[in-house]
Amino acid sequence: MAGTLPIKTILIANRGEIACRVNRAAKELGLKVVQAVSEADTDSLAARLADEVKVIGPPQAAKSYLNTEALLAAAKEGGADAVHPGYGFLSENAGFADAVEDAGLVFVGPSGDTIRLMGDKAAAREQAQKAGVPTVPGSDGVITDMDEAERLAAEVGYPVMIKASAGGGGRGIRVAGSAEEFRKLAPQASNEAKSAFGDGGIYIEKVIERARHIEVQVLGDDAEVVHFFDRECSLQRRRQKVWEEAPSAAVDEDVRERLCRAAVELAKSVRYRGAGTVEFLFDDETGEFYFIEMNTRIQVEHPVTEMICGTDLVAGMIRVCAGAPLGITQEEIAREGHAIEVRLNAEDPANGFMPFPGVMSGLKLPEGEGIRFDHMLYDGYAIPPFYDSLLGKLIVWAPDRAQAIAKLKQALTTLEIGGLPTTAPLFTALADSADVQANDVHTRWLEPWLETNADTLTKQGETTT
Ligand code: ADP
Ligand code: ADP
Ligand code: MG
Repeated sequence: MAGTLPIKTILIANRGEIACRVNRAAKELGLKVVQAVSEADTDSLAARLADEVKVIGPPQAAKSYLNTEALLAAAKEGGADAVHPGYGFLSENAGFADAVEDAGLVFVGPSGDTIRLMGDKAAAREQAQKAGVPTVPGSDGVITDMDEAERLAAEVGYPVMIKASAGGGGRGIRVAGSAEEFRKLAPQASNEAKSAFGDGGIYIEKVIERARHIEVQVLGDDAEVVHFFDRECSLQRRRQKVWEEAPSAAVDEDVRERLCRAAVELAKSVRYRGAGTVEFLFDDETGEFYFIEMNTRIQVEHPVTEMICGTDLVAGMIRVCAGAPLGITQEEIAREGHAIEVRLNAEDPANGFMPFPGVMSGLKLPEGEGIRFDHMLYDGYAIPPFYDSLLGKLIVWAPDRAQAIAKLKQALTTLEIGGLPTTAPLFTALADSADVQANDVHTRWLEPWLETNADTLTKQGETTT
C-alpha cells in the first residue's frame, strides 16, 4: 500500500497522544517519521517512537508548535515531504496549510481555502445554509453592527450564545440571558476573541436548552466524500467532551441517515479533502438537528469510529491528502457494535479538575479484546506543565452499549497510572450512573452531576462506592 504513495517521510507537527497515534499510522503506511518537539518534549514518547527528532523551539507553544517557520525548517532538515498537524495547534490554521503547500510539501488536511471557509465558524454556518443543512437560528455571518445584533438576539429569543468565529476547544463562547447582558458580553467576547484567537469576529446562536452533541465523521478525496457514521459526545464539562461514543444510541436509523447525508452534502459542497467532522446539536424533544461547526482535522474522539467501522482514519487521511483516491465506497462502509472513549487527563476530579503535572510511575495498561489505549505515557515520564492535560484515551468496543459500559468499567479497574491524579475515577462513577446507562443525558447533564457527586470522585483511581 505504502509503495503507491508519492510521499516517503512525514513531519509530525504536534505532540502528546496524537503524535504517537499519527506515528503508528505513518509507520503502517511505510513512512519515515520526523517528530517536531519543543525543548520540553525531547523525552516524550512521541520523540522515542520517531525515526528522527527535530527540536523546534522553547516550551511555549507560540515559540514551538505554533511556529510555522521552525516547523518548516524541521520538515526541510528532516527531508519530509508531508506534514501532519494533528489536532489543536496549527491544525485548523489556513495560513499554515498554505505555507506547507507553498514549501512544496503535502499538508495532511484540506486546502488553506477550505480551512478558511469551514474552519471559520461563522463562514461555515453560511456554507451550511447554502448547502441546505439546518443551522441553529441566529445571525447571518459575523456581527458587524451591535444594535442590529441586539435586535436579532431579541428576535431569536434569550438566552443566546455569543460565539467567536475563530473559537474552538470549548473556548470563545458566552451565554447572554437578557438584552442587558448581551450589551455587556458581546463587546467583551469580541475583544477576548481578538486577543485569544487573533480574530474578533463573533456571531450569535439561540441556546438549544436540552440538546445532544452528535457529529459525523467524513473523509474526502477532492472528488468523493464518504461518511463513517456518527458519534455522540453529550457528556461535556465546560463545553469540552469528556466521554464519547459511536454510534449515538439516541437517534433512530432515519435520523442517522439524514445526519450523515447532511454532513456528506456539506463536505461535498466544498470538495472536502481529508478527514473532517461535522458537528450537530440534536434536540430530543423535537427530533430536529442543527449544524454547529465543522472541525477540518482529525478529532480527539476519532478512535470510537475506527472501532465500529474497523478502519484507520489517520492512515486514510494521509493517503487521500498524498493524492491517493478514497478507495472505498459508501456502500462498503459498515459499522458493528458500540464503542466508548474516555479522556484521561492529568487533573484531579476530586479537586475541581485541578491540572497536576508530575512524574509517572507504576503504569499498568488495560488489555484484552476490544480494549485500546491511545496515550503518551511511560514509567518515569515527567509530564511537562506547558500543554493540554490530556494523557491518553481509553477506548473500548463491545457488541452493544451495555456491554461496552461494562467493559469500560472493567478496563478502568486494571488501568493504573501512578504518581499523579487522573480523571479515571470520574469515568468509573459515570459508568455506574443510571442516567448514563440509560443514555438519558444532554450537553448540560454532566456539570450539575459533578456538583452533586463530587464526593464519589476520590483521588486514587477508584471510587469509594
Ligand atoms: P475535539 O472534538 O477533537 O475534542 P476540540 O475542539 O475539543 O475538538 O479540540 C481538540 C484539541 O484542540 C483540544 O486539545 C483543544 O484544546 C484544542 N483546540 C481546538 N481548537 C482550538 C483553538 N482555536 N485554539 C487552541 N486550541 C484549540
Ligand atoms: P467549539 O468550537 O468550542 O467546539 P462548538 O460550537 O462546537 O464550539 O460548541 C461546543 C459545545 O457548546 C457544544 O458541543 C454544545 O455543548 C455547546 N453549544 C454550542 N452551541 C450551542 C447552542 N446553540 N445551544 C446550546 N449549546 C450549544
Ligand atoms: Mg465543537
